[in-house]
Amino acid sequence: MVKTDRSGAEGAESEAPELRTPELRDDVVPRIIIVGGGFCGAVLAAELLRAARCPLQVVVLEPDHPLARGVAYSTRDPEHLLNVPAASMSARADDPDHFVRWLERHARRFDLHAEQLGTGLHTVYAPRYLYGQYLQDALEEAAEQVQPGVTLVSVSAEALAVSVAARGLSVRLSDRHLNAEAVVLAVGNLPPRALPSAVDVGRGQVQTDPWSDAALGDLGPDDALLIVGIGLSTVDLVVSLHARGHRGRIYALSRRGVLPQPHLPPATGENGVVTLATELTRRPAAGLPELVRRVRRAVGAHPGPWQEVVDSLRATTPALWRGLSLRDKRRYLVHLRPYWDAHRSRVAPQVAGVIADCQTSGQLVVLAGRLVGLTPDGNELEAVCKLRGGGVRTLRVVRVVNATGPETDLTRTTHPLLSALLHAGWIRPEVTGLGLEVDPTGRVKGTQTRPLYALGALRRNESYEGIAVPELRAQAHELASTLLAELANPE
Ligand SMILES: Cc1cc2nc3c(=O)[nH]c(=O)nc-3n(C[C@H](O)[C@H](O)[C@H](O)COP(=O)(O)OP(=O)(O)OC[C@H]3O[C@@H](n4cnc5c(N)ncnc54)[C@H](O)[C@@H]3O)c2cc1C
Repeated sequence: MVKTDRSGAEGAESEAPELRTPELRDDVVPRIIIVGGGFCGAVLAAELLRAARCPLQVVVLEPDHPLARGVAYSTRDPEHLLNVPAASMSARADDPDHFVRWLERHARRFDLHAEQLGTGLHTVYAPRYLYGQYLQDALEEAAEQVQPGVTLVSVSAEALAVSVAARGLSVRLSDRHLNAEAVVLAVGNLPPRALPSAVDVGRGQVQTDPWSDAALGDLGPDDALLIVGIGLSTVDLVVSLHARGHRGRIYALSRRGVLPQPHLPPATGENGVVTLATELTRRPAAGLPELVRRVRRAVGAHPGPWQEVVDSLRATTPALWRGLSLRDKRRYLVHLRPYWDAHRSRVAPQVAGVIADCQTSGQLVVLAGRLVGLTPDGNELEAVCKLRGGGVRTLRVVRVVNATGPETDLTRTTHPLLSALLHAGWIRPEVTGLGLEVDPTGRVKGTQTRPLYALGALRRNESYEGIAVPELRAQAHELASTLLAELANPE
């Protein structure tokens, strides 16, 4: 059973696993603190609980979301679907069908509509709120099947700083310190960079968090809205507006103006094997331009849809990324990333259908360009956009939402804990600007060597792809083994 300590913070929502009295005395057993109780924190906790053969206390710190749900799976909007079919969404690296079996047991309980279930449970793009419930159940299941002396405690609090302690490390919360043998940073994506021209116009006219209820909150049905940045969050916002019968114009603006592309319908058959990945492994590309040429050529030569070629590269992407020179990595991030992300991180076919309908009706207007000015004018905002093809377009909107995507450059983050660690020299920004430097086990590289580890988006430079469930669960599985081995054989 998960025990939760709620002191020093607002309580989590009621769907979180059953909670009990805190057991946070410092003289108990070895302790691992996980900072962040989203997907990564919860999956790592479950891995530790399952694998621990000696007494261990796993503490998860999470101030903002119900345990295990994090940003992605806290949504309550049933229109927000997973962008990966159920078959690839197991939280367990050792049990690929774990989520599909859970869906089989629970689909009826959640009254899913036939169209949400698609043609079969393996191919379904389940609602994200449901996936959050699955993650909570999976953690609860792990907490119930532990060896004697192994416990999980969830604390509703934010980690503010980490320092050295006799026992290893000490994490500072607002009202106390918690000591531990090891600390894992699983803080997820960092908040987006502020809009260059965002003025604080008050009254919630500029929203900085696309996932908060306030983003669309009191928007009237005929109000015009500008979403800055085009990615999966933009898609979420448009789908939510569509479901509630919004009539006002929705502008979506990004530098390239590329929308996330659709997945193929489940019924689409295989159109022949794509050998590109094997060829790239056998004869690596000499650099980024050649890599792009070969991918384009493979798409042109493939008899089936381009999605099959893109998907064939998934397992090879980490090696391709690592094989690029620093100059090519930087060129990719500036020039190609929006295109690759739009084709690689796709949306469910039914979601793509909604987006296409909104575009066809003229309600959704996609613009390529930059926001260069934002001026309040009564209840409205005047947004000046410099268009990519030349020219300027001025939009009058009631709301602007910043959906430019997570900040990855640690030198620009306002995240209190990471800023504190950066200033203390405990973490080093990765040279491409994708998170921080870690060794191959996930241990943070800094000026001091401490039992401080990272999991998830902070390690994005390792493999480039390490931000989705299939890669994250493998990372959590490996890190759990490392942590338990180090506890058993301390240096
Ligand atoms: C909207 C959205 C939809 C997605 N859909 C999919 C999908 O369909 N399929 C897929 O494979 N991937 C999807 N992803 C990718 C997603 O990033 C991963 O699936 C996963 O949720 C990432 O988990 P995480 O634990 O790293 O981050 P998060 O879930 O963001 O959890 C990090 C947690 O850390 C907490 N935290 C931060 N700082 C502190 C601190 N100082 N102290 C304590 N706690 C702290 C935060 O409150 C947060 O809850 C989606 C992502 C988003 C944003």
